Amino acid sequence: MSAVRLVLASGNRGKLREIQALLSPHGVRVLPQTAFAVAEAKETAPTFVENALIKARNAARYTGLPALADDSGLEVAALAGAPGVHSARYAGPDADDRLNNAKLLEALAEFQGEERRARFRCVLVLVRHPFDPSPLIAEGTWEGRIAEAPRGEGGFGYDPLFWLPDRGCTAAELPPEEKNRLSHRGQALRQLLARWPAL
Ligand code: IMP
Repeated sequence: MSAVRLVLASGNRGKLREIQALLSPHGVRVLPQTAFAVAEAKETAPTFVENALIKARNAARYTGLPALADDSGLEVAALAGAPGVHSARYAGPDADDRLNNAKLLEALAEFQGEERRARFRCVLVLVRHPFDPSPLIAEGTWEGRIAEAPRGEGGFGYDPLFWLPDRGCTAAELPPEEKNRLSHRGQALRQLLARWPAL
C-alpha cells in the first residue's frame, strides 16, 4: 500500500480528527484545507451528496491534490428531518455547537421517548482531481435519540445530545475509537476504503 496525500475539504476540527484517525492506519495522510488557505465553497445544494461534491471539487481545484469532502448532519424524525443539511448553521449563520444544541433542545421540548428519534448521516465524496468524472461516494448512518440534556465532553457538534439507547450514553461519552467504530462517518469511511482501488 503506497502513501497517499489528500486534502480534507473542511475546516471542522472534529471531522479532521476523526478522519485522520480512521485513515492514517491505511497510509493516508489527511491535510486540512485550512493549511492551503482554500476559500470555503458555498454549500448551496439541498442534498448532502451535492454539497460534498461542491466542497471536494473546490478543494481539489485550489490544492491540486485529491480531495475528500464530508457532508454530514443530524436528521430528527419529529422535525421532519431537520436540521439535516443545515446542521452546522441550525441556530443561524454564526451559530456554534452550543447554540445549535440549545435550539434543538427547545425544538424538541414537547417530545418524549421514541418521538426523539434521530439519525446522523454522513456522505463522503473523493475526487482525484477537480474534473474527476467518477468521484467515489460513500454513505453511513447512525441511529439514536436526542437526550433531554447534554452529557459528555468528547466528539463535537451534537454528540453531547446524541443518546445511544443500547449503550446507555451519549456519543460525547464514547471513547474516540468507539465512536469511530460505530458512527456514520466511520461506516462511510470503511465503505470508501473498500472501493478505493489505489489504496
Ligand atoms: P457540514 O460541514 O455542513 O457537513 O456540517 C456538519 C454538521 O453536522 C456539523 O457541524 C455538526 O453540527 C453535525 N455533525 C456531523 N457529524 C457529526 C458528528 O459526528 N457528531 C456531532 N455532530 C455532527
